[in-house]
Amino acid sequence: MRLETCLAQCGSRWDDRTGAVSMPIYQTATFRHPGLGQSTGYDYTRTANPTRDVLQETLALADGGCQALAFASGMAALDCLCRLFAPGDRIVVTEDLYGGTYRLFERLQRPLGIEAVYVDTADTPSVAAALASGARALLVESPTNPLLKVTDLAALGRLAREHGALFFVDNTFMTPLLQRPLELGADVAVYSATKYLGGHDDVVAGILVAKAPELAERLAFFHNAAGAGLGPLDSWLVLRGLKTLGVRLARQQASARVVADFLANHPAVARVHYPGRPDHPGHARQQRQAAGFGAMVSFELAEPSRAGEILARARLFLFAESLGGVESLITLPAVQTHADIDPRTRARLGVTDGLLRLSIGLEDPGDLVADLQAML
Ligand SMILES: *Cc1c(COP(=O)(O)O)cnc(C)c1O
Repeated sequence: MRLETCLAQCGSRWDDRTGAVSMPIYQTATFRHPGLGQSTGYDYTRTANPTRDVLQETLALADGGCQALAFASGMAALDCLCRLFAPGDRIVVTEDLYGGTYRLFERLQRPLGIEAVYVDTADTPSVAAALASGARALLVESPTNPLLKVTDLAALGRLAREHGALFFVDNTFMTPLLQRPLELGADVAVYSATKYLGGHDDVVAGILVAKAPELAERLAFFHNAAGAGLGPLDSWLVLRGLKTLGVRLARQQASARVVADFLANHPAVARVHYPGRPDHPGHARQQRQAAGFGAMVSFELAEPSRAGEILARARLFLFAESLGGVESLITLPAVQTHADIDPRTRARLGVTDGLLRLSIGLEDPGDLVADLQAML
């Protein structure tokens, strides 16, 4: 069956006793033992919970991994990955990555002696050079946030293998429906399920999907030992979101293209970043390795100083952090999501004060364009 079919019915056949069509929320911390030395398979929710298990099984299937783990946030999932490393280890990382991930590496990992090396991962030779000087792992976002640069994942998968480095892909912007990192050579796919997987801006959650049992076992040990597993109710919210992922993405991508084309023809806009437009440098690569272009659109204002005034006129777009939900959001990455990156680096990367990022939701695309027209 196609993935969308599996997602539509996730959890719908779990409860044989009552036949519940919606996966029950096992809101319990602990589980009664049938007798001494006996277990139903569930002992304590930090270790395992049926609602979280169904979410994990669904996502392992979705990505073609052997095991998925659900965490209390995307950052908790990334933090779990970092536990694989020891002082002296180096990790090659996409340079324009999510601000929170940058903060994790710089403020939590660097003091422990684990060094992140930032490179433009859309440029394969730069990654080859960084890996050649020794690295334990490579962590990539593609398309990147907020500039939507596209990395050649299969080429980087081969390079990582050659250099004995683990390969992680933060696939938050794409989801397993549009891009399948484990099939392109990644060892682990990472998600902030807060975004498209949950999709309703009502839950914070993170996911790791591991390809091979050995790594999955180590990560599962950290997951239980450090205890940042996702709670039953939040697991259920992500499961409910997954059921509609396919239709949401289809609509959001179609609207994103309409919005990107409108912005590209607007005189107040200097430049549009959307991989679905043929003028985007990563367009062909994205077409090759993914089943879609996503629903994130960034654009640069011709006059950066107008950003505040433009944001103040938004009536439909919500001025808020995050992305991937049913509501369209607008953010100013330089002051919101990427504030932890120093201003010089931001300028070099192109995360300028006039760069705005849109997450396209489910509203009517004509209404979204009208809102942007009024704002600009
Ligand atoms: C939001 C986000 C994260 C962090 O996830 P949280 O659920 O907010 O902890 C990591 N990576 C990317 C690409 C994100 O967009």
